[in-house]
Amino acid sequence: MSKHISILIIGGGTGGIMLASRLLKESDQLNVGIIEPSDVHYYQPAWTLVGAGTYDYDKTKRPMKDYIPKGTNWIKDKATAILPKEKTVETVSSGSFTYDYLVVAPGLAYDLDLVPGLKEGLDKGNVISIYTDPKKAWSAISSFKGGTALFTQPTTPIKCGGAPQKIMYLAEAHFKKSGVKKDTKIVFATNGGVIFGVKPIKETLMKVVDRKGVHVKFGRNLVKIDAEKNIAWYRLGDNQSEYNPVDLPLEKEGDLVGIPYDLLHTAPPSIAPKFLQASGLLNEGGWLNVDIHSLQHTQYPEIFGLGDVAALPTAKTGAAIRKQVPVVMDNILKLMKGAEASNYGYNGYSSCPLVTEYGKMVLAEFDYDSNFIPDPKLKRMLVFDSSKEHWRLWTFKKYGLPYLYWNYMLKGKDV
Ligand SMILES: Cc1cc2nc3c(=O)[nH]c(=O)nc-3n(C[C@H](O)[C@H](O)[C@H](O)COP(=O)(O)OP(=O)(O)OC[C@H]3O[C@@H](n4cnc5c(N)ncnc54)[C@H](O)[C@@H]3O)c2cc1C
Repeated sequence: MSKHISILIIGGGTGGIMLASRLLKESDQLNVGIIEPSDVHYYQPAWTLVGAGTYDYDKTKRPMKDYIPKGTNWIKDKATAILPKEKTVETVSSGSFTYDYLVVAPGLAYDLDLVPGLKEGLDKGNVISIYTDPKKAWSAISSFKGGTALFTQPTTPIKCGGAPQKIMYLAEAHFKKSGVKKDTKIVFATNGGVIFGVKPIKETLMKVVDRKGVHVKFGRNLVKIDAEKNIAWYRLGDNQSEYNPVDLPLEKEGDLVGIPYDLLHTAPPSIAPKFLQASGLLNEGGWLNVDIHSLQHTQYPEIFGLGDVAALPTAKTGAAIRKQVPVVMDNILKLMKGAEASNYGYNGYSSCPLVTEYGKMVLAEFDYDSNFIPDPKLKRMLVFDSSKEHWRLWTFKKYGLPYLYWNYMLKGKDV
């Protein structure tokens, strides 16, 4: 027999915990359940700093039990299927659960096979990713002896789109300190056609790229990696262009161009978790098909999407989730009262703290239209233009944001 939970949340990550905390703050009478298999909750945004040797990995993880809010029914299991017509979720060993409202928030999954050779590469010392093993990333960056350091990203959407360049900027700063910069070519190969899609941020980052002598290759679609020969292979996009060119011994194979590397950093190709594939809830692009302003599923009004899994044309970040949670909550409460889910208030807000040096950061905050929309509260921190590098923003990233995450955001308190 299925057990019934009124508001069932799949995933106890950033989105799932923030929402459960807010709901139970609203009313401790609500019947809220979270399906979450992990004992540990990670603060992933600090992994960039771990990869640059300036944050302790152990401080990014805390026991899940301390953050699942009191009063939540924690189903310590994995969801294996959603049957939306039956309003049922199946799990590995806890049986199935029916729901009145379902919030799908299992984050995203990595599919390394989408870039053949990446798995083999990540087993070696010179292919790294702050997404999968930030400690190994630091060990490779700190022991780098010079050569071509290639920073890249896959063609799929990824978490925090700016992270692949953040780690590059910090690696460059470290190479300078360790004395290998003069023997190093730093290359950023991206499928994008600009360094960042928000104008004032782009202007600052192009200056950073100039200052650091980074060679940027735009319109490079990563196809495969030859981990044996240390070559990353790309198909050129229509948006291809070069900035700050340097001489590289490029390889050719049909219409592919190969960049030889001594050190390669990449974000992993990312997809919606596999258990969703058969649910009928995904769009053509493979992400949870929700209205981009109300976060309500386009076919099933009692289902909402939250966080990285959702098909939203904005950056997948925890900062975005902070603005999504109140909209999802408001809409569920409206439905519970028999009204329509009429809150269309999510404007695509996301933010990307772009660390550019040890001690400097730019804070990109933007909406669906790539407008730069800095939080007025930054002025209280004496930051009057967050599109420019600032030491106070670095301090905010390293100390302020983790504190606010664990003590405010996950506890359902306003920041
Ligand atoms: C290197 C890196 C740097 C980043 N930098 C920033 C940054 O600077 N600023 C920022 O705001 N964001 C940043 N992010 C992104 C941010 O961490 C994510 O956007 C955010 O954590 C996504 O929240 P989520 O709830 O969607 O998923 P997650 O927090 O990933 O949580 C998903 C949860 O679902 C669970 N789950 C998975 N599958 C199932 C299943 N089948 N059944 C039940 N539970 C399941 C998982 O165990 C997990 O606990 C960064 C991420 C990385 C990796």
